[in-house]
Amino acid sequence: MATLLEDGRRSQLPPEADLVQPRGPNVTVTYDFTGKVVLVTGAGSGMGRASSVAFADAGARVAVLDINSESGAETVKQIEAAGGEAVFFEVDVADDSAVRRAVDAVVEQLGRLDVAHNNAGAEGQHGFLLEQDPANWRRTLDVNLSSIFYCMQAEIPHMLSSGGGSIINTASAAGLIGAYGLTPYVAAKHGVVGLTKAAANEFSERGIRINALCPGPVETPFISSFPPSWTERLLSGTPIRRLAQPDEISQAVLWLGSDASSYVVGAAISVDGGVTIGGAETRVDDLDERVRDPHDASS
Ligand code: NAD
Repeated sequence: MATLLEDGRRSQLPPEADLVQPRGPNVTVTYDFTGKVVLVTGAGSGMGRASSVAFADAGARVAVLDINSESGAETVKQIEAAGGEAVFFEVDVADDSAVRRAVDAVVEQLGRLDVAHNNAGAEGQHGFLLEQDPANWRRTLDVNLSSIFYCMQAEIPHMLSSGGGSIINTASAAGLIGAYGLTPYVAAKHGVVGLTKAAANEFSERGIRINALCPGPVETPFISSFPPSWTERLLSGTPIRRLAQPDEISQAVLWLGSDASSYVVGAAISVDGGVTIGGAETRVDDLDERVRDPHDASS
């Protein structure tokens, strides 16, 4: 039974208890990255930390890159506590020469580079296009899009010299569809999808597969700063009706990084609880009592 809102309409969301859906059986797919070196940007938090930990659990030595040295060090600590190997490198991914220095330092210290998860990103300021400060436009494009260009320019020569690799660029559902009041972020993330396709075209025959990952709403500090009413609105457009946990995204990252995805090239893989399938606006059962709830056997 849906909750009644103050104005008498039925909430589009089921009662809170129902939102905690089972995630299905524990993950049974295992990967073996023994002997591989994996680089992750934005590895001090959220999905970057989750994929760093997952790659390390699967045997990789992990280069943890972040602008925040404290949170990056915490990721390394978590990996080491679990018996894995990781090294922190401080970098602002929006700075092309700093990115090149950091990637070169990774290869110098860890010996090679097999997989890169170019994941660092930030939404930037919310606001209507006419009110957007051009400085926010430039920084949002730099952090989310140019950063990935800089990372790939620095990473690919090392991968070519060791015979190949896999690159996973984090875009977003906002790289496939629009979002309100977020023009710089949406433009940047659409750019990540295009950049990924163009780069994949150049390097797949030389042994480097490049793909984009498009997550929906994921429970990370990125999203937990939103007021609860925003999260509820976000979930009303998310068919699965819950936020993802970061480790649900890293399952796709590990798959893309592994040979299990050996024929996947230039794809934009959605892991988004259905956000991009569209049609959330056709759900009218909270507005019109005549619309039969398909899950209610008595109606
Ligand atoms: P998060 O805020 O938890 O972590 C982002 C990390 O990136 C932080 O450790 C931060 O210090 C680092 N970072 C930010 N700017 C940087 C810079 N200039 N240089 C180096 N490091 C920098 O975020 P998250 O939710 O894990 O998001 C990771 C990626 O996923 C981002 O690209 C984001 O746009 C994307 N994304 C997030 C969601 C979501 O709902 N959380 C959905 C779709 C896509």
